[in-house]
Amino acid sequence: MVSVGVIARKMTQPPSEDNARVFAPRPQGFARAGEAPEARSSTLKPVISRGSALVSVAIAALVLLAPGVAQGMTEIGAVEEPVLVRVFPIAGPHDLGRSPTNGFGGGRGHSGQDMFSACGTPVVASQGGKIRKAGYHPVGGNFVALTEEHTGLDAVYMHLANRPRLRARETVETDERIGSVGDTGNASGCHLHFELWTAPGWYAGGEPFDPLPRLQRWDAQPQP
Ligand SMILES: [Zn+2]
Repeated sequence: MVSVGVIARKMTQPPSEDNARVFAPRPQGFARAGEAPEARSSTLKPVISRGSALVSVAIAALVLLAPGVAQGMTEIGAVEEPVLVRVFPIAGPHDLGRSPTNGFGGGRGHSGQDMFSACGTPVVASQGGKIRKAGYHPVGGNFVALTEEHTGLDAVYMHLANRPRLRARETVETDERIGSVGDTGNASGCHLHFELWTAPGWYAGGEPFDPLPRLQRWDAQPQP
């Protein structure tokens, strides 16, 4: 067991599974003309934990001190993630997407996971945090990008039915409704396109990574 002193030092920074990783800034912007977020090529690099000792200390600090964090952790590939209290982003019947083209990469640099649900089905924040940007894009349609409070990850929700009521820097709670499933922008059929980005975030120096393992886990746990 690590000492309290070690935990206290680690907690001088916000608990984030991605604090230990550094990525080169990305020059691209979401609004760059002619570039489709779903069509650009992926530049995701392998994510390696710095060391099991550091990760263990971070996990211990999260479990002991951070609110809303359940005990335990899960290993997904090389990424060890504390199990957080969070919910599946679609609050209603849905299909996680069975075709490889619905997934991350998808043979076309697809940077998220497409999940199918009837238009109008509530979309909720899978984890609370602060809105980074919300608005409309010709490809992504109505979208919300938020920085998660406990993980520092950015979660992005696209093709929402209506123009978001949320504004940058507003905060939302876990499970708070942020919109409805739609088919706005470049979407064939009603679905939610969901992305997760490492800190420092969406088109701010972070990198997108495959959200499917996490989505599957959230989908399997009891919802509020
Ligand atoms: Zn998509």
